[in-house]
Amino acid sequence: MEKKFVYADYAATSPVSGEVLNVMLPHFTESFGNPSGVHRASRAAAKAVAEARRKIASAIGADFSEIYFTSGGTEADNWALSGATGKIVTTNVEHKAVLNCCKALEQSETAVTYLPVDEEGFVTARQVEAAIDSETALVSVMYANNEIGTVMPIEEIAEVCRSKGVLFHTDAVQAIGSLPVNVSGIDMMSCSGHKIGAPKGVGFLYVRKGTLVKSLIHGGGQEFGKRGGTENVPAIVGLGEAVKLACENEKARSEYTQQLRDKLIDGLMKIPHTRLNGSREKRLCGNVNVSFADVESEAVLLMLDAAGICASGGSACTTGDDEPSHVLTAIGVPKRYLNGTVRFTLSYRNTEDEIDYIIAKTAEIIERLRNIKHK
Ligand code: PLP
Repeated sequence: MEKKFVYADYAATSPVSGEVLNVMLPHFTESFGNPSGVHRASRAAAKAVAEARRKIASAIGADFSEIYFTSGGTEADNWALSGATGKIVTTNVEHKAVLNCCKALEQSETAVTYLPVDEEGFVTARQVEAAIDSETALVSVMYANNEIGTVMPIEEIAEVCRSKGVLFHTDAVQAIGSLPVNVSGIDMMSCSGHKIGAPKGVGFLYVRKGTLVKSLIHGGGQEFGKRGGTENVPAIVGLGEAVKLACENEKARSEYTQQLRDKLIDGLMKIPHTRLNGSREKRLCGNVNVSFADVESEAVLLMLDAAGICASGGSACTTGDDEPSHVLTAIGVPKRYLNGTVRFTLSYRNTEDEIDYIIAKTAEIIERLRNIKHK
């Protein structure tokens, strides 16, 4: 089989799309004003930032005044959580941006409950309800898991939070563009640009009107006086376009991607002693997380890379950690499989030929590694 380059790590990051780059480019050169000034160059920049805010608001069913630009998903998560005025309830499968922020808040006396998940990675609205007490201020449950793709029962959890008078935050970094995301019932929502064809280092936090949001960065009056600092205009413009395109094309793109995903899952599951992690049904359209018994994922990833295939182990953000992934541990992946986990994450940019190539190469690699081990 001829060697190809196949990118299958879209949950880690994605390239800036052509349409997005085109709308960004003028803001590096001819339209370079500082949005805070009064002259025409400034007014043009302010208008571009406002337009991006409007595009995002309309794509997710929010109001213009409810979108706060950030440096990405991590900052948005930290901002949402660090304003909590009482106990926090979350899950033990959140992204490290949430979990490590919670750990830091615990140091300053904020109590945090980490709810366990079932073997497919779900937490239920009933669990959330049972964990809320009179001192709970905030519930934070991710929309969809970045490692195993499990889509959480967000509407039901939002409903429970509303009935209990507790704020509900969700990390929607992996959901936007893959699911029909709407902020109805949600008080705060984090998003990141680089997963959906915008540049790295830009994202936003949605905050429902009337929700108290603390100032994150003290400075000028940017972001409604809550996050000072001159705006990254080109990135914000790119984010606005990327969110618009991701939401407009979500249905067609996710239907196509899901077909590729299912083909890949079916192909990989034919490899003996392979398990699929996460839910088969309520799963992100591009996520394939599988564990191969008796192999080391580092070896598989290096050999995939040598074959031109980019995939990842747990999540890109946790590579370098020696510990097994907290998500795989939380769903109870058996020991024999735990270290042989590979995550392929697909997008509408992938093709059927690429899926055939991934299946063939992966089968070859797993067989080779198992033969070496058993010699
Ligand atoms: N939350 C989730 C679920 C993610 O997958 C990621 C990135 O991998 C983040 C937060 C962090 O986003 P960013 O890279 O924009 O800081």
